[in-house]
Parts: sequence; C-alpha cells; structure tokens
Amino acid sequence: MRWAQADHPFYRRFHPDIGQPLPVVTRAMVQAHNDLLLNGHPAQGHTSGSTSMPIHVSWQPDRMRMEAEDTQRLMQWYGGPLSYIKIVALATHKADERTLEVDSPLAEQLAFIHDRHQRLGAVSLVSYPTNLERLCRFLIERGETLPFIRRVTAMSEAYDDHLDDLIRQAFPNAVPVVTYSAVELGFIAIRCPHRPENYHVMAHKLGVEILDEDGRPCPPGRLGQVVVTDYFNRHSTLIRYALGDLAENAVCGCGRIGLPAITRIAGKMRGLLRKADGSQMLFTRLSPVFRDSPEIRQFQVVQHTLDRFTIRAALRDGSDPAPFEARVRERFIREFGPATTLRFDYMSEIPRTPGGKYFAALCEIPEDLP
Ligand SMILES: [Zn+2]
Repeated sequence: MRWAQADHPFYRRFHPDIGQPLPVVTRAMVQAHNDLLLNGHPAQGHTSGSTSMPIHVSWQPDRMRMEAEDTQRLMQWYGGPLSYIKIVALATHKADERTLEVDSPLAEQLAFIHDRHQRLGAVSLVSYPTNLERLCRFLIERGETLPFIRRVTAMSEAYDDHLDDLIRQAFPNAVPVVTYSAVELGFIAIRCPHRPENYHVMAHKLGVEILDEDGRPCPPGRLGQVVVTDYFNRHSTLIRYALGDLAENAVCGCGRIGLPAITRIAGKMRGLLRKADGSQMLFTRLSPVFRDSPEIRQFQVVQHTLDRFTIRAALRDGSDPAPFEARVRERFIREFGPATTLRFDYMSEIPRTPGGKYFAALCEIPEDLP
C-alpha cells in the first residue's frame, strides 16, 4: 500500500491520503485511466470482456511465474498432468498439434479428439464451458460417449453447475476441473476437487474480499462483489479491484486444502443483468428458459437498457421460433416488467468476442464512473 501510494501514479491519483481506507477500484476507473495503471510498462494481455473497452495489463516476470505454479497446484489437486487436447480460440492461444480452433464444427472437434487420443494418447480435454456444453449435447444426441477422456477442464467463461450433468453423460469417466480466472489477475480460485460446490482462493498471491453494497464484508451465504488485491504485481498493480463479478464467502469442509473458499461465482462478465430497480440479477435465473428450448441450438441475451433486450439465437433446422419467442417474452415480462421490449435476432452461429470468449448474457448498461 505504502509503496503504491508513493510510487504508483494510479494510486497517487485515486488514493493520495494513506490515513483513509482505500476505496474500491472499479473496472470503469481502470478503463478510463488505463495509462496511469500501466505506469509506463508496455501492455501485454488485455481483457476481452463484454464491453468494447478492454483493459490493458502488464505483469512482472516473477509474478507471471506464479501462474505457472498455480497450474502445477491445479494438476496436483487433480492427480497430475495428463496428455491433453485444447479446443480454444486460436486468436489468443498458440496453435500446435494438440490445439484446435473452437469455432470448428462439432463433427470436426469430435474427429480431432479421437485422432489425438489414438496418435498422442490424449485423455484430457480443455475448452470453454459454452463449447463443452455444445459438444456434450452433440454427443448425447448421437448416443455417443467418450469414455477414454479422464479430465475435462473448463476455462475462461462462467461455469454453470448444470454442465456437470452433461459432462457426466458425454464423458462418463471424466472429472470436471473448473477455474475462476481473469486476464488481469490470472487464476483467482480453483474448484475444490473434494467439494465441487466450492472454489479455493489463490490466497498466497491474491487477497479476495466479498463486499456488500456499503463496502462491508459479507458473511458466508450472502452474495457480494468480488474485490481482489494482487500482492505482487508492481506493473499494472491492482489493489481492491472490483472486476465486476459476484460470489459468496464459503467455508470448505474438505479439510484437505488450507486455502479460503468462495462459492456461487457469477458476474457481469459472467452473466449478470440489471433489474428495473437497478439491482443486479444473476442470469442463471433465466437461463433454463433458453437451455430447455428445443427450437434453438445457441443463444445470447444482450441487455441494452433496463427494459430493452436483444435475444440472439441459432435456430435448429426446421424449427418454428414462435413458441420459443412466446415463452421468452412471457418470462422476461415477469422478470423485468410490462414495458419490456425484446428483439429477436436469428443467426447460424453466435460469434465469440475477438478474445475467444462467449457470453450467454451481456449487459450494456454502463457502470457509473466515480
Ligand atoms: Zn475444499
């Protein structure tokens, strides 16, 4: 703290008085003053969030190594490294013989998995939750399973627990591994291998607070804002940074991992909408109406204002969209009020962000600048 106030221009500007408690730093503040945050260091990664304004960050080399250590930690928790395949966005991952572009057709993905299993002994699959969901459904519809896959790792996007069931059906011998991470912070938490409802916080490098609207710590069981402090990165230093996600504090009863835990992670970047009174709402409340609709293959909800939405969807061949639209309309009016207007936009495939992420729900209502 003292270092940041003395030597980091972002904190000199936003927290000049060390006698006062440090205010929470919002995404909007970082976006508006990204150059100050970088403090003259060249930008390395940038976040590819739901907004068109990415955040540029810069990491010290020794801070970067901590991410490799956390990858090792994850492997240890889950039983060591396995021969793997990655199906990810090649815009942000380097291509090699184990890597396939996530936008490839599902039949091609399946052929790739079989081929790399035979040729390279691959038994572990890494991809994004949205792609894993599509792949699981594709397998289930064809009555196929991939019993040779022993681990399925879901990265980058929000993970909804319903995916556990789909993975169990399509990959009957696989353990799902889920990480909670952000480009600006690296691994924030990793799912507990013993109690999968909990995520253990990477407390050796990050401080994670869960705060209510008044900035007070939430007791376990109460959803609050995730606020993270990076103890080590002195380039784009983030202290008490609210990255826009929500979670609950938890006490993990596994008794095997000595790190604090959080649960029910969700967020603006990971599917958070705004209700008529301005309060935030988890998209998981609404997602079943889409997930359970037989007319569509894929969907995305964009909230433009408190009562104006665009529903993007990929229709299944030969499906009539009318019953789907009626159900969605009824559900949204119940949730957001009678003035709610919906526009339906059909496309063959819903595009990912340039960084390769895919969001089921995007909220375009800006956060207030301080
Ligand atoms: Zn645990």
